[in-house]
Amino acid sequence: DQRIAKISSAIRVIPDFPKPGIMFQDITTLLLDTKAFKDTIDLFVERYRDQNISVVAGIEARGFIFGPPIALAIGAKFVPMRKPKKLPGEVISEEYSLEYGTDKIEMHVGAVQAGERALIIDDLIATGGTLCAAIKLLERVGVNVVECACVIELPELKGRERLGDKSLFILVEAE
Ligand code: IMP
Repeated sequence: DQRIAKISSAIRVIPDFPKPGIMFQDITTLLLDTKAFKDTIDLFVERYRDQNISVVAGIEARGFIFGPPIALAIGAKFVPMRKPKKLPGEVISEEYSLEYGTDKIEMHVGAVQAGERALIIDDLIATGGTLCAAIKLLERVGVNVVECACVIELPELKGRERLGDKSLFILVEAE
């Protein structure tokens, strides 16, 4: 698909952010390119439009950029999965391990119902820890996670393996 090459070149790489040695994949430049941004959304919509998905769960923060336009286009609701203590209502949460320490994501109780079919969306998969926690959170309340989708994968970090048999769809592989 010729759209992929344009999307890939619209993503900026910033070395040593947020700390030395990290090559940060910056999708804000993709958002400035109206054609590449629209193609990004369209590629996801083409894949998910006829799959009976009723929930698009977006991971804070950049899953909140890509998730809502996909949700609107496929006729699904959008559910934010947030960092701790951001959601005002009653939440359920799932902890996951980082290189140093742990983090947590939270979702509002009642946002989804058992038996619903969900797509989880984020900008990037690195170690897969975040997506893995999001899958667990949704599955705990009986939701069927159809697939996880990201704009970018860092294949060297083998996040895909951490997702087990859950399938992952990506547009761009970064070194
Ligand atoms: P993981 O849990 O190790 O897979 O990390 C994925 C999370 O970290 C996602 O929510 C990403 O937004 C964020 N992340 C890690 N590296 C980058 C990067 O280079 N660019 C943008 N986001 C990143």
